[in-house]
Amino acid sequence: MAIASNMTPEEKHFLAGKRIIVAGAGMAGLAFVTGLRRQWNPALQPPEIVIYERDTQETSVSREGFSLSLAGYDETGGLYALKQLGLLDEVLPHVLLGLEGTGSFKVWGRDFGEQMSVRYKPARGLPSAGIRIARKNLRKVLLDAVEATDNITWGSACVEAQKLASGRVKVKLARGEHDSKADDEDECDLLVVADGASSKLRACLRPDDTLRYAGAVQLGGSAKFEDKIPHPLDDNWGMLLSGRGVACFLSPIDHHSVVWALSRLEAQERRRINPNDPETAEKVIQEGLDLGHMFGEPFQTIVKATDPATVFSMPARDKQPFYHDVSDLGPIVFIGDSNHAVSPFAGYGASLAMKDGWDLAEQIRAASDVERAVTSYDAISVPRAIKVIKESHWRIEMAHSTGIKGMVFRCFIAFGGFLLWLTGRA
Ligand SMILES: Cc1cc2nc3c(=O)[nH]c(=O)nc-3n(C[C@H](O)[C@H](O)[C@H](O)COP(=O)(O)OP(=O)(O)OC[C@H]3O[C@@H](n4cnc5c(N)ncnc54)[C@H](O)[C@@H]3O)c2cc1C
Repeated sequence: MAIASNMTPEEKHFLAGKRIIVAGAGMAGLAFVTGLRRQWNPALQPPEIVIYERDTQETSVSREGFSLSLAGYDETGGLYALKQLGLLDEVLPHVLLGLEGTGSFKVWGRDFGEQMSVRYKPARGLPSAGIRIARKNLRKVLLDAVEATDNITWGSACVEAQKLASGRVKVKLARGEHDSKADDEDECDLLVVADGASSKLRACLRPDDTLRYAGAVQLGGSAKFEDKIPHPLDDNWGMLLSGRGVACFLSPIDHHSVVWALSRLEAQERRRINPNDPETAEKVIQEGLDLGHMFGEPFQTIVKATDPATVFSMPARDKQPFYHDVSDLGPIVFIGDSNHAVSPFAGYGASLAMKDGWDLAEQIRAASDVERAVTSYDAISVPRAIKVIKESHWRIEMAHSTGIKGMVFRCFIAFGGFLLWLTGRA
C-alpha cells in the first residue's frame, strides 16, 4: 500500500481507529471496502469495517444468474474501477467477450443483419473498451478481495438507521434472510449504504425518494444449449431492433447459455411475476415468441430453449441521484443503486456502483472530515449518474420507436457508427 502523497505519517485521520458499517455486499459496497483498504495510509490506525449482507452466502450465489457489460472507454467505466481497485488481473480470466478483438456490442435489424458494431478505443491502461462477464464471476472476485481483509456478516439486513446525539449512527438489524423485523443493533461513526435499488435504508431515511417507472417492460430468461450457443451470440452481444415498437437485448452468459430480454413501451407499470410459478413462466415465453414474431432466427430457437426457472417480466425502473446533507442526515452516505438506481437499459449500473465505491474511498482518504469527504464525493458521483440515466431514457425511447422516428433513429445509428470511425473513437 502506498502512502498518500498529501499526508505525513504523523497526520491524524478522522476515521483512524473508528468504526464503519457497510450495508450490502454488492458491487458498490465491496468496491468501497477494497478501495478504502487499498488507499488507507498504512502509518495510521485503520478503521474497523463491519459489512452486513441481507442474503445468506448460498442465496447470494443463486441470485447472480446473468451477465453484465462493463465499460472501459473512459474513466467512468467499471473496467477502469477494477484497475483502480487492483483487481483487473483477477477479472480478465473470467471475461466472456470483448478481449483481444473478440466480440463487440452490435445493433441488429430484424434478421440479425448488422446495423452497427460498437468498438470504442480503450481508456489508457485498459485492455478493452467494453467486456461481458458473468455477474457471479465478477462478484466472486470482489468478494475474495474483501474477504482477504474483512469479514462479511451474511444473513443480516440493515433495516433502520438513526443519527445519534453523539454524532454516531445507530443501525437496526434483522438477522435471518428476508426478515424485516429488527432484532439487533449496532453503532458506527460512518454508515455506507450500499443495499441496492430497493434500499431499505433509503425507505427509512428518505421515504419519498422512490423508484420511478421508466416506461418500458422487459420480459425474458436464459436459454440453455447443451452444445454451443447459436451464431451470432457465440461471439457478440447486442440489441435487435424491429422498427415496430419491440426490441430485444441478447447476450451470452457463458458458453452454454444466452439471456434474452424482449422489451416494449407500456403506459402502465406491470407487476413483477412470481418466479416460482411454472404456468406464468410458460406464458411469458409464449408472449416473448408472439411479440417477437417479426425477428428471424436464431431468435425463436433461443426463446424456445428458455429454462422456465429463469424467466422474468419486469418494469424498467430507476431514480435520480441526490446530494447528501450531512449536517441533517448525519455521517451516512448512499452509494451505487441505493442512491441512483438505473434500469438494465443503462447497461452501466455496475460500472457506476464500483466507481462510487472507489471514489468515496478516495475522497475519504483525502478529506479532513466526513462532510468534506461526502461533498467532494457527491460532486463526482451525482453528475455521472444523471448523465447515465438520461442516456438510458433516450435509449428506451429510440429502441422502441416506430414510423418516421424509427427510420431517423436507424439512419442515426448508421451515421453514428461512421462518425465514430471518422473521429477515431472507434
Ligand atoms: C437484468 C439486469 C441486467 C443488468 N445489466 C447490467 C449491465 O450490463 N451492466 C451494468 O453495469 N449494470 C447492469 N445492471 C445493473 C447492475 O447489476 C446494478 O446497477 C449493480 O449491481 C448495482 O450495484 P449495487 O452494489 O449498488 O447494488 P447490488 O449489486 O444490488 O447490491 C446490493 C447488495 O445489498 C444487499 N442488501 C439488500 N438489502 C439489504 C439490507 N437491507 N441490508 C444489507 N444488505 C442488503 C443485497 O443482497 C446485495 O448483495 C443490470 C441489472 C439487471 C437487473
